[in-house]
Amino acid sequence: MSNRKNSLPGLYIHIPFCKSKCLYCDFYSLTDLSLLPAWLEALQQEVLLYKDTFAPFDSLYLGGGTPSLLDGFQLAAMLDSLRRHFSFYPDTEITLEANPDDVTREKLHLWRDLGVNRLSMGVQSFAEPDLIFLGRRHTARQTEQALEWVRIAGFTNLGVDLIYGLPGQSAGDWRKNLERALEFRPEHLSCYQLTLETGTPLGARKAQGRIKPLPEEAERELFLLTSRFLEEHGYIHYEISNFARGEAYYSRNNRKYWRHVPYLGLGPAAHSFQGGKRWWNHRSLDRYCQALSDGVAPVAGRETLSAGQLHLESLYLGLRTKEGVDLNLIRPQPRGDTMLGELQEAGLIKLHHGRAALTREGFLVADRLPLWFSD
Ligand code: SF4
Repeated sequence: MSNRKNSLPGLYIHIPFCKSKCLYCDFYSLTDLSLLPAWLEALQQEVLLYKDTFAPFDSLYLGGGTPSLLDGFQLAAMLDSLRRHFSFYPDTEITLEANPDDVTREKLHLWRDLGVNRLSMGVQSFAEPDLIFLGRRHTARQTEQALEWVRIAGFTNLGVDLIYGLPGQSAGDWRKNLERALEFRPEHLSCYQLTLETGTPLGARKAQGRIKPLPEEAERELFLLTSRFLEEHGYIHYEISNFARGEAYYSRNNRKYWRHVPYLGLGPAAHSFQGGKRWWNHRSLDRYCQALSDGVAPVAGRETLSAGQLHLESLYLGLRTKEGVDLNLIRPQPRGDTMLGELQEAGLIKLHHGRAALTREGFLVADRLPLWFSD
């Protein structure tokens, strides 16, 4: 990918609706679908507020929530408004997050006709007991059918999201899931470790002692298994949780977050970044719609990052990727050279052509790096 491509801004739309709430989910989404028309109307206002404020986009990501629950008219109207008021490169990557239970042959053709060229399928697991535990709406059979139809409809860029680290999950159980996923030859895989977040039903069960998270050692084993298994099958482990069958399939949207490339997020709870400034929208549909009907941006908070903060973020975000970071980002840190030496000795980091990148084992400790590099 050229340097020009690496610096083009991205557009993210948060569709804040789901037919029901999964038991582990702490994303902002509502299950009252009668509010959808009001949200779509407010979104039109938000689009107008940001018209002409960003250079042309080369990625559009429809996330949520559940974008696949929009009907043809709603999705077409939304895309039409975005195309009328923003500029997009002809080869823009347009991703739609889909839940298997929403996928029909008709919808797949409609999505293609509307220009969607990448699907991100919320599979999570191919094992029925896992789906029930997670409170997913779909069955494994529905997922398999949906993945077959995706290919028949002609999609050539398919991402599959999976969750591992469920209480009691064995390495064999997880491996079966990975094997099943690979039968569909997805171009991209995201494998996220389950977190039992406070405020979610599974988090409450954990607090009551009704479920026990996997021991850290077992989580570690599953992470290493994932990385080894997928690399053996031709995938590039290009970010801690992300794998692609070639660089062309790296998610453009995600890379913008990791590299401080400008992005605009529209919809409740969406985040944006431009010129060292970050802002985020109200995590409440009411407040979001109210602000827009008052003619103001529905922004809940803003921050301007100092040069030092940007530097540190670039370091930590960069180290979460296969490319790693320029050594000049690490050396000025208070414990930069010392840490480099220690991490190298422990086999957690490797140096190559003036860059430092975490090894597979190093990825396991990436979250602790901010502590290690500071005083
Ligand atoms: S479908 Fe996605 S956003 Fe909706 S409740 Fe489930 S995990 Fe959350």
